[in-house]
Amino acid sequence: MGEQNYGDWGFSTQAVRVGHHRTPEGEHAEPIFPTSSFVFRSAAEAAARFSGDEPGNIYSRFTNPTVRTFEERLAVLEGGECCVATASGMSAIMSTCIGLLQTGDHIVSSQSVFGSTTMLFNKYLTRFGIETSFVDLNDLQAWEAALRPETKLLFLETPSNPLTDVADITHLSELAHARDCLLVVDNCFCTPALQQPLKLGADIVIHSATKFLDGQGRCVGGAVVGSQEVVGDAVFGVLRTAGPTMSPFNAWVFLKGLETLELRMHAHSRNAQVLAEWLEQHPQVEHVYFPGLASHPQHTLAMKQQRAPGSIVSFNVKGGQPAAWTVIDSTRVLSITANLGDTKTTITHPATTTHGRLTPEERTQAGIQNGLVRIAVGLENVEDIKNDLARGLDSL
Ligand SMILES: *Cc1c(COP(=O)(O)O)cnc(C)c1O
Repeated sequence: MGEQNYGDWGFSTQAVRVGHHRTPEGEHAEPIFPTSSFVFRSAAEAAARFSGDEPGNIYSRFTNPTVRTFEERLAVLEGGECCVATASGMSAIMSTCIGLLQTGDHIVSSQSVFGSTTMLFNKYLTRFGIETSFVDLNDLQAWEAALRPETKLLFLETPSNPLTDVADITHLSELAHARDCLLVVDNCFCTPALQQPLKLGADIVIHSATKFLDGQGRCVGGAVVGSQEVVGDAVFGVLRTAGPTMSPFNAWVFLKGLETLELRMHAHSRNAQVLAEWLEQHPQVEHVYFPGLASHPQHTLAMKQQRAPGSIVSFNVKGGQPAAWTVIDSTRVLSITANLGDTKTTITHPATTTHGRLTPEERTQAGIQNGLVRIAVGLENVEDIKNDLARGLDSL
């Protein structure tokens, strides 16, 4: 590509075209550069690259052209200055924490975040003298009350998993900035196709590229998006030194994923909407959690903040765990797995899998009932998904 003004392009054009700097070979698709190191024309050039006087590739732990194409494209899609690609979603979160925090600092996090994120904060960061307070995603007063002079980061996911609570990103970014903190949003469930947190006031966006950015369940990867100062310098510094970098092959797979991201996210959301409405009127279903339903407590906020409701639908089955397991075990099409963000619909029982390590009291507090089933709605014909669930539900 020549130098274009990417900002003028629509989202889908950006998703297809940004970041490919065509080589003299004239390739149409983005090339993969499977090389660990790069060759210099002279000793002087090597010295200039290492000293930073001259930009350019040195070693793929630092930079790689395929990875850079992915980074440039995702940065533009999120509306951020800078993106750093990582080996996984968790290494994106870890690198952000290591890059921005030191002993004595404090995090305030939503209690409804990915299980490994809670573990990273509680078990590992505490060893280095970094504490985390967990609060209810939607209790703005609790966020405010948890802030300390040493608080540096506010961390959340919206919609939350598995109950799809929606947080007001603008409100929380105002709170963060009034107290000199940065707001970090894990944008895994919406992706920039449905929600751009930086445009709503967040400072940093985290991705598990493993989920919808790939979208077809092939590779593990992650990313951090934000300003040059915070992401381009502080987080990138951790990456190039400590090394949780993305491989060029994975970056290439994610690039192909980004090209169809907008189409897929709207198709996931349409299927999820049909399924949620159908579940809501099923006699064996007690409650459906889905931001696209008028009955969702933050439906209005979700429809303002997001372009579509997303793919995650959770519901309580009457009859608790045995009934939930019957529904799950009666499926023949859906995949019984805790993963999400795939063309293939997945079904899981949070109380005994993702939230199985919590005590019953902790689970109750988190709102995870024994009859809860979570579906990450894929791109199959929605009638087949309904029929697959009806088999178990109708037998109860
Ligand atoms: C999966 C996930 C992560 C972790 O990503 P990995 O790529 O598995 O390391 C972080 N946040 C959310 C919301 C996720 O779903």
